[in-house]
Amino acid sequence: MAGNQTRQTESASGRAADRATDRIDAGPRFTESDAIRLNNLYRGTDTPEMLRSVLADKLIGDVAVVSSFGAESAVLLHLIAQVDKALPVIFLETHKHFPETLAYRDELVAHLGLTGLLVIEPDMEPLAKKDENGLRWSWDPDGCCEIRKVQPLARALLAFDASISGRKGFQSATRSGLPRFEIDRTDAEGRLKFNPLASWSAEDIEAYMTAHDLPRHPLVEQGYPSIGCAPCTSRVAPGEDPRSGRWKGWDKVECGIHVPGSPDSSETGSELPPGYDPAF
Ligand code: SF4
Repeated sequence: MAGNQTRQTESASGRAADRATDRIDAGPRFTESDAIRLNNLYRGTDTPEMLRSVLADKLIGDVAVVSSFGAESAVLLHLIAQVDKALPVIFLETHKHFPETLAYRDELVAHLGLTGLLVIEPDMEPLAKKDENGLRWSWDPDGCCEIRKVQPLARALLAFDASISGRKGFQSATRSGLPRFEIDRTDAEGRLKFNPLASWSAEDIEAYMTAHDLPRHPLVEQGYPSIGCAPCTSRVAPGEDPRSGRWKGWDKVECGIHVPGSPDSSETGSELPPGYDPAF
């Protein structure tokens, strides 16, 4: 559906009646005003009801969930499973995950009855050239994330109009004020990013996990409140920013699949986030 191909035109609630209409369109799928309209439309709506409304009516087109199967992923995936167990769930296989994460992924998918898991691999040829000994993370984490996460996700998302993320505003200073709907700025496609848990607190997450008796990632009780690839995830002391254990010692807060508060890439002419500077 990328580039000049046919794509569905629906971009927000006010145009729901037009959803069935296909058109040839090289423009972005969604604009900033679509995101604003959706944020206004669902202001005050609780999360399960919003998810039902958005997904059941295909209000934002073809959607995939992007999940790291980390510490809190069970909440979003459980909410999704109540609406559509077959919704595509993208997992980026970086080949750097903790074995516990891979086991937890399979356990959670089975527990929730999810049938749409998509395991996305990096392109092996550039990976072999640019990270021949598998240690790129140790001297160029931006470059490592680029080949193991950013590029594979960009390819996977070409088939979708929007993605759903499990980010929460409380997770870090760079995620505070996160809106429920925003434009995905990692490329110029104008894809929508839907953050159903944007306003959830750590207590809300914990209460939901307990109420629904959801399986826990085994590393949480070992001091990892935010879990990514093994080489780039450290334990966090009680009271510390939950994401402070990610890329510890580096001036890096996101892997590049989420952009903290950057301007629209269509304005900069860059397909990569401003300030994002992999070594190759
Ligand atoms: S999180 Fe670390 S190991 Fe994983 S892709 Fe990024 S730099 Fe590489």
